[in-house]
Amino acid sequence: MSVFDVIVVGLGAVGSFALRAASRRGARCLGLELDTPAHARGSSHGHCRIFRHAYFEHADYVPLLRHATRRFEELERETSTSLLHRCGVLLLGHRESTVLLRSLDAARAHGLQVEDLDSREIARRFPWFASPLAERGVFEADAGLVRPERAIAAAIASAREAGAHLRLSTRAISLHADDRGVEVTTEQGTERATTVIVAAGAWTAKLLPELRPHLTVTRQVQAWIAPRSGGPPVGMPCWLLDPGDGRRSLYGIPADPLAEAHSPARMPKVAWHGSSDLVDPDLGALPPCAADLDPLLAAYQQAAPPLAGSVIDAATCLYTMSPDGDFLVGRSRDTDSICYAAGLSGHGFKLAPALGDALCDLALLGGTNLPVDFLSAARLSQANKDSLDD
Ligand SMILES: Cc1cc2nc3c(=O)[nH]c(=O)nc-3n(C[C@H](O)[C@H](O)[C@H](O)COP(=O)(O)OP(=O)(O)OC[C@H]3O[C@@H](n4cnc5c(N)ncnc54)[C@H](O)[C@@H]3O)c2cc1C
Repeated sequence: MSVFDVIVVGLGAVGSFALRAASRRGARCLGLELDTPAHARGSSHGHCRIFRHAYFEHADYVPLLRHATRRFEELERETSTSLLHRCGVLLLGHRESTVLLRSLDAARAHGLQVEDLDSREIARRFPWFASPLAERGVFEADAGLVRPERAIAAAIASAREAGAHLRLSTRAISLHADDRGVEVTTEQGTERATTVIVAAGAWTAKLLPELRPHLTVTRQVQAWIAPRSGGPPVGMPCWLLDPGDGRRSLYGIPADPLAEAHSPARMPKVAWHGSSDLVDPDLGALPPCAADLDPLLAAYQQAAPPLAGSVIDAATCLYTMSPDGDFLVGRSRDTDSICYAAGLSGHGFKLAPALGDALCDLALLGGTNLPVDFLSAARLSQANKDSLDD
């Protein structure tokens, strides 16, 4: 049995960046992955993700978002790989949309450059969205799409260059902490490390039962849709439309200028943010069907009429939701030797490098200067206690 300083379980978005961070700091690292990195049954495939900084979800993410974007840029330079495409991000909604108001608040609080647009300006600059649903827009130019499969491959290449070991097609079955660290039982045998980082995405609750009450895995459908006529629209930003009344947002990501000829990413991608379709990740999600795609196309038709032509491809993907939509980051309740990031709730890719660094700090130093305290699972126990006291 080999003994490592750190074992990272799961080489998706967070795990690949945690492995990179720990191995570049000189730790003896092993990465375990039950399939291959960015495989199509997890949460990090599908060619593109949105990155942005004026964050409506919670303004406290902004320092982490800035840190993560700098790390993506650093990895681009290190590996000569293009990971980010700054096409801008346009948030749309009614005048008092909470998505828009919170983004403006986050931008003000953290000195981020955004533009607050009325419907005339939206129609002039982004004519595809000339829709009654888009009364107001918030545009962040220093934002856009990130390429998930490439980013994960680049992070792993960087980790390997720094000496990390990998075991693919190897599932961690259980973790057992003792006074010497953690024993990890895998399908192929046993490994041992001083600390373990769990970055297992949709499978986290199977490995860390203490998080089971807080995590729900849902099926998402992403579709690549050709416009009604012509090729992919030029100059189109990533976008998200908040329909209001607590209904889920619809969002889109433009064609990737670097997409290969046969990739669906040569056309824009459209999806809803969130669903109530529960999934066991070991059984997998049912493939996309007309019941998914017809309503999606109809909603796209309302949001961006000239763009809603025909679906050229579609795929499922998993969200791992926390009860409040914010991540869970910290150390195990039972032992300081296990730390985790979980419940990324459908918005975690852009933050993966920052989460990887925070987990590496927790594993190697026992604490981190990155501001992740607001993501502690303790907030959920406190919320439960408060609701019982009421
Ligand atoms: C359709 C869709 C669109 C999205 N859009 C955006 C977006 O625009 N912007 C954004 O920021 N985020 C977005 N997200 C969310 C983001 O992609 C996820 O939050 C993020 O990729 C999750 O990363 P992860 O590392 O937690 O999980 P994953 O990347 O899935 O990695 C977990 C890995 O752990 C492995 N694993 C699990 N258990 C074990 C085990 N026991 N042993 C070994 N390996 C194990 C899995 O095989 C998997 O590879 C989107 C998600 C989806 C599904």
